[in-house]
Amino acid sequence: MAADSHGKEWFMGMAFSRALALVLLTGLIGCASPASDDQSVADGPEKTLSPEAQAFQEQCDDNIARLEQGLVTLENLAPPFTVDSVLNPLNDFQILLYDSASRTGLYEAVHPDADLRDVAGKCTAAYSDIGTRLSLSRPLYEAVAAVDVGSAEPDTQRFHHVTLQGFRLSGVDRDKKTREKIRALNDRITKLGQAFDKNILEDVRYIEVSPQELEGLPEDYIAGKPVGENGKVRISTRYVDTIPVYTYAHSDELRRELRQQDRSRAYPENEQILEDLLSARHELAQTLGFDTFADLVTADKMTGSAGRAQSFIDDFHDLVQPAARRDLDRLLAELKTLDPDATQVERWQAMFLEERIRREQYDVDAAKMRQYFPYRKVRDGLFDLVSHLFGVTIRPWDTDTWHPAVEAYEMYEGDKLIARFYMDMHPREGKYQHAAAFSTQVGIRDRQLPISTLVCNFAGGNNPDDVMEFSEVRTFLHEFGHLLHALFGGQQRWAALSGIATEWDFAEAPSQMLEEWMYDKATLQSFAINAEGEPIPDDLVERLDAARQFGEGLTGNLQIFYSALSLTYHNQDPATFDLMDRMLELEAHYSPMPHQDDTYFYANLGHLNGYSAIYYTYMWSKVIALDLFSEFAEQGLRNRELAQRYRKAILEPGGSKPAATLIEDFLGRPYSMAAFARSLGVSPAGAGPVE
Ligand SMILES: [Zn+2]
Repeated sequence: MAADSHGKEWFMGMAFSRALALVLLTGLIGCASPASDDQSVADGPEKTLSPEAQAFQEQCDDNIARLEQGLVTLENLAPPFTVDSVLNPLNDFQILLYDSASRTGLYEAVHPDADLRDVAGKCTAAYSDIGTRLSLSRPLYEAVAAVDVGSAEPDTQRFHHVTLQGFRLSGVDRDKKTREKIRALNDRITKLGQAFDKNILEDVRYIEVSPQELEGLPEDYIAGKPVGENGKVRISTRYVDTIPVYTYAHSDELRRELRQQDRSRAYPENEQILEDLLSARHELAQTLGFDTFADLVTADKMTGSAGRAQSFIDDFHDLVQPAARRDLDRLLAELKTLDPDATQVERWQAMFLEERIRREQYDVDAAKMRQYFPYRKVRDGLFDLVSHLFGVTIRPWDTDTWHPAVEAYEMYEGDKLIARFYMDMHPREGKYQHAAAFSTQVGIRDRQLPISTLVCNFAGGNNPDDVMEFSEVRTFLHEFGHLLHALFGGQQRWAALSGIATEWDFAEAPSQMLEEWMYDKATLQSFAINAEGEPIPDDLVERLDAARQFGEGLTGNLQIFYSALSLTYHNQDPATFDLMDRMLELEAHYSPMPHQDDTYFYANLGHLNGYSAIYYTYMWSKVIALDLFSEFAEQGLRNRELAQRYRKAILEPGGSKPAATLIEDFLGRPYSMAAFARSLGVSPAGAGPVE
């Protein structure tokens, strides 16, 4: 999820990227970590595993042995180097690696047997290590580089191109001494990143306040906060506390104090670690021939360079600022009803004021909405929508699964089976706690079907009347958007181009686009029906749509500040600036609200490790999603002919063409920011192409 999501779900980017990262890591893109000599996942003879875990471990050991053998073969290929002699065996190897790694990645996240989850975790590490060694193999690189693809099919040329690009971004083409330096730097970066994340995760802070200060918070929240012997209640910096407090607490001081603690986590420990991390990344980039790490990490993204990412951030900022100003004026007006002397809105006041406005002016009550979203009706409604738009049918798939609650389906086009998927939708002990689409089997044309798995944590496991939150329904659509991308894109020849194999900064566009159907009255009323058989009322859908637009300017403005922070830190020699000074400069320029004293956001923004310079990808994907959706807004959200065209142009090619080409194929023009500008109520006149 995007940082500081401002009380609502922006995107499930983080959750999704976890699933994607595995694919990237085991593919040819990604940073290196040192090879391990220990390839066995056995735990030693003294530990007795469950029979199922034992069987899984044997299968995993078997796959590892086959992959090790495959790696030896790939590193000893003999000329002549051709598509048949090099690219085909590489593809076979990648199919086995992806399928092995995605199956263990999934089981590690969802399998009910704790032993098996442990085994799967160790298998994942072993597969990831094999993927890294593949990506750093000099003999394989030389063989691939020698293949002439001049007269090959376009998808083969693309596979050749992205494979070589991955090798070169890993530095495989460099001399031995340089390769050793790169390896050491990557190792250092991995360790510093882990330390940075660990400090954030482990530094949970608490404040103690008198029970009276909890005024305004929901009753069930207060009931869960016992008063201690000193007459105080303890509140932590975990989401379960911060979100309700920022949203509902009447006490300005409580919100201020909690946010001050929250935004100081991992400080001062992470200051030095971040400086070292930025230095190591800068050195790595320079070793690989780039000016900055931001240039290195954007080289294989849609933006292509740090300069282009910076232009995007500035264009976005220009567009969003008037909308943010408008939102902020409304927040200030609301604040003045509480404090007539107020002159500006502080950071710890924004969510609280937004919530008051939503409740008072839009009358959107989450508790009243739930009745319209029984899980099964939502699921069936979503299947109907997809069947209608894309001309496919979804039928139950009679197969074994890892848990009785898991649903399994097959997707048909006419009589032809084209894909399969699992849905593991409800929470249980030991299961992954977020929402994500996991690739489960890579789709290869005329060889094997694409299989994906949706993992969510919605209510409705046992009782057909269990209802979902509106925000959960939105998450369902989002994740289903990823699923469709993976399944429709899973008819490629090359595993590395199959499914969600586009540039990272495009991967969230199809999923975000599908969310837009949540606000379509016809779609919503086809399945949002309560126990009395009444569909969700017209005026409620209209208020929902109006309420979501309120606050978008402010949220977008904050997100672009984070984007600027992430890019700028990685786009200069870190020896030339101070972390705090640079953050304050950027905050003054990009952020709509003033800095809160005694806070150290750079020490606890975990994305600075996981996303490094490319936090902007959240906003970039959003802009593109709205641009793609503008065709549906114009030609109809139930337009089957258009939906088929979208499927053919955007989803089916997977990664076989650059994302910019896919978009242009669909829109008949390059992508632009105009639709995004319209969504903010800003004149699109100033919104040129995304540059
Ligand atoms: Zn996503």
